[in-house]
Amino acid sequence: MRVPLALPDIGPEEIEAVVSVLKGHTLSMGPQVQEFENRVAAFIGTKHAVAVNSGTSGLHLLVRALGIGDDDEVITPSWSFVASSNVLLYERAVPVFVDIDPETYCLDLDQVRAAIGPKTKAILSVDAFGHPAPLQELRELAGEFGLRIIEDSCEALGAEYDGIKAGSGRFADGAVFAFYPNKQITTGEGGMIVTDREEIASLCWSLRNQGRSEDELWLTHERLGYNYRLDELSAALGCVQMGRLEEFLGLREGVAQAYATRLSRINGLGIPKVSPRVRMSWFVYVIRLNPEIDRDAVIRYLIDRGIGCRPYFTPIHLQPYYRERFGYRGGELPQTEAAGRSTIAIPFHNRLSAEEIEYVAGNLEAAMAGCGD
Ligand SMILES: *Cc1c(COP(=O)(O)O)cnc(C)c1O
Repeated sequence: MRVPLALPDIGPEEIEAVVSVLKGHTLSMGPQVQEFENRVAAFIGTKHAVAVNSGTSGLHLLVRALGIGDDDEVITPSWSFVASSNVLLYERAVPVFVDIDPETYCLDLDQVRAAIGPKTKAILSVDAFGHPAPLQELRELAGEFGLRIIEDSCEALGAEYDGIKAGSGRFADGAVFAFYPNKQITTGEGGMIVTDREEIASLCWSLRNQGRSEDELWLTHERLGYNYRLDELSAALGCVQMGRLEEFLGLREGVAQAYATRLSRINGLGIPKVSPRVRMSWFVYVIRLNPEIDRDAVIRYLIDRGIGCRPYFTPIHLQPYYRERFGYRGGELPQTEAAGRSTIAIPFHNRLSAEEIEYVAGNLEAAMAGCGD
């Protein structure tokens, strides 16, 4: 049996939507992008949404739009996909990595508070694996110290904290969702900035489109911009997928429950924990092995049996580029590094069957029996 790590859920409606864009000849800057933006803004409850061609582009534009630049310090987790700190380096800002709460894998509030200094300009928090960061508390902390908040919600479309959607303007100055094929919904490549702040939205709108001015003078470029536009085919796909989001979240919740029931019978293996204040939007299913178990041997065992899995994440500060540029050697962030040594993302998508779950779990059990000290 082969069980992929992730699988997009594309049905006949998606195919029809993309084909009809092709037949209509408007392949960029048309009604689909606008409709997709409207749908995401309505779902999250923000005043504005700006579609872009990746989650990374969206985060980059928010960093620029918030005026974060040379030598500004931004507090952020190392426990993330590399893009969330790369966007700071694009603007010559300095990522100040802080450790995570090992239960939720999100920013540890005490560590955040301790890291705030005179050069701190913002907090870039990450809703890891679809579990929101402590958004309410981060908002309060940011208020106390006059900091901006960027929420990397690329893994958490549909998640909630205290009944409020991750990405809401109640928490962050701006947030970003991403639509790569392994995310909750996909547009192939794509992302979405959401914000309640008019001036941020209009700056992002201009920056994604070569710095053009808002008065539609097509050849006037007011600022240094980019081509970060989303095309109409991708947006059409996104519109259909948004209509199915609640269905998807329900299916994913079901798979997560089935895994939890089955995997909690395995000794030496920890399943994901969800804070009672949170509605999880399951992105990946990440298990944690006791430290005495040879995690990499377990991964090899599973891959040899056709089971897609990988260590997830490798902490950003330990990536070769960051080690070389900033001199990290390991030992700086104990919780993050311990997680980096002991976690595995196992197959997870809407349609994972009971039989596949049993196949993954059975093989995990066998692998762990053979991979202890
Ligand atoms: C997916 C993801 C992104 C953005 O990825 P893109 O491939 O650029 O869309 C950013 N941050 C996190 C934490 C992610 O998981």
